[in-house]
Amino acid sequence: MEAVTGNRPHVLAVPLPAQGHVKPLMSLCRQIAKHGIKVTFVNAQSIHDKIVSASAEEDDDSNDSIVMATVPDGLTLEDDPESSHTLFETLPKTMPQTLKELIERINSSNPNERVTCLIADLSFSCIFDVADKMGVEPVGFSPLSAACLAMLIHALKMLEQGYLDTNGSLKNVDEICVSDYILSWRKDELPWRVYSDLKAQKVFFELVKGYKEASKAKWWLCNTCYELEPAAAEFLPNAFPIGPLNLLDSINPVSSLRSANFYSEDSSCLSWLDSKPDGSVVYISFGSFAVLSQQQLDELALGLELSGRPFLWVVRPDLANGSRVVYPDGFLERVSGLGEMVGWVPQNRVISHPSIACFLSHCGWNSIMEGMSRGVPFLCWSCFSEQSHNKRYICDVWENGLKIDFDEKGIRSRHEIKKKISMMFCDNKFKENAVKLKEMCCKSIGEGGLSYKNLEKFIDHLRR
Ligand code: UDP
Repeated sequence: MEAVTGNRPHVLAVPLPAQGHVKPLMSLCRQIAKHGIKVTFVNAQSIHDKIVSASAEEDDDSNDSIVMATVPDGLTLEDDPESSHTLFETLPKTMPQTLKELIERINSSNPNERVTCLIADLSFSCIFDVADKMGVEPVGFSPLSAACLAMLIHALKMLEQGYLDTNGSLKNVDEICVSDYILSWRKDELPWRVYSDLKAQKVFFELVKGYKEASKAKWWLCNTCYELEPAAAEFLPNAFPIGPLNLLDSINPVSSLRSANFYSEDSSCLSWLDSKPDGSVVYISFGSFAVLSQQQLDELALGLELSGRPFLWVVRPDLANGSRVVYPDGFLERVSGLGEMVGWVPQNRVISHPSIACFLSHCGWNSIMEGMSRGVPFLCWSCFSEQSHNKRYICDVWENGLKIDFDEKGIRSRHEIKKKISMMFCDNKFKENAVKLKEMCCKSIGEGGLSYKNLEKFIDHLRR
């Protein structure tokens, strides 16, 4: 499917260097590539290395419809390569130049496949300048909820008006109200907040300041669907909801291709799930970034044990505040057969498994999209950033889940965990609502649905 000019359209896609940003953008790119459009996916070198080392040996790039490319991390001697947010600081400084050089190399190596479009994560809007300079169309991508994107855009006004200081802390107000129809944002829900780490907050708030360049892009492709967040989608004039993107992967599976995982996937849990009755298992995951204290992990382990339900728990190697988890005495023996702990799972396949009853989640937006599009209700355990706001949508707006509350000491106790798991199994309302939401998502991304039409419109535009 060649473009009318005879030159093949060529998209360069640039995610933010984080698991929850790389994965949905890659799903989008594979979909675009299916329409005969060339796609080059650009990661920072260290992110590319992580993905390669997490890949299975049989993963094969030679059949991939998208080409992987890298730009340098841009670290100086002062930068800490171990810090989780160093790249968010270095890349916005170096990428305008390194990306320009990459585009020049691509263009000169094959003049018939010159880069025609740059899809960048909206948090990386600073690189839209490169698109301007190289005569390439800028397109924005957002893996966040539309409510979150609306707030990030609104935050720029709040900064100008002095309601936010330059580090992103609220001044003279306790919450941010974007519109009457979007839940207001409390100060502990702001997306640039990373626990109480002020240094990290400043780094992330710098990215928010970059959103002022977002208006350079006429298309903001969002991993949500209109039906789920109509008010927020309406608030954003350039937004094109095209999600849930994870459903595209299952419509057109790409099993032998390299996945976008930063951790090696362990699929053995799928046969463990096969051995469990339908609708019986609690699935627990905190995504790629959230960490818990050892005390909190002990309570979680004991709460799961007390619930007496089968559980599959993703225990990342760094989940205990950056270290390995130590389980309570005798826990592993007592839950043998009942509970399965795995370092990283194929999450989309796990939550599609009939044995899964509910998803105890940190409420990252990808996890919400993935669980929701499979009709799985949530037990909400938000940790930082906008996760508590997402949790309020689940508990108060869509009513497809329950939240696990803190006690007076700021801990989610084993008794609270057990209680909420029992409530989830006793009240069918959450599952019923979850199924309705799944149907809504599937309809939107299915042929003729709103997300489907938006994506189709965008792909047609690329081919013109
Ligand atoms: N994920 C996965 N396997 C796991 C845990 C998580 O593939 O064992 C994926 C999950 O499917 C999602 C992403 O990691 O796409 C996490 O993104 P999310 O926005 O939920 O959370 P974040 O990691 O950004 O906090």
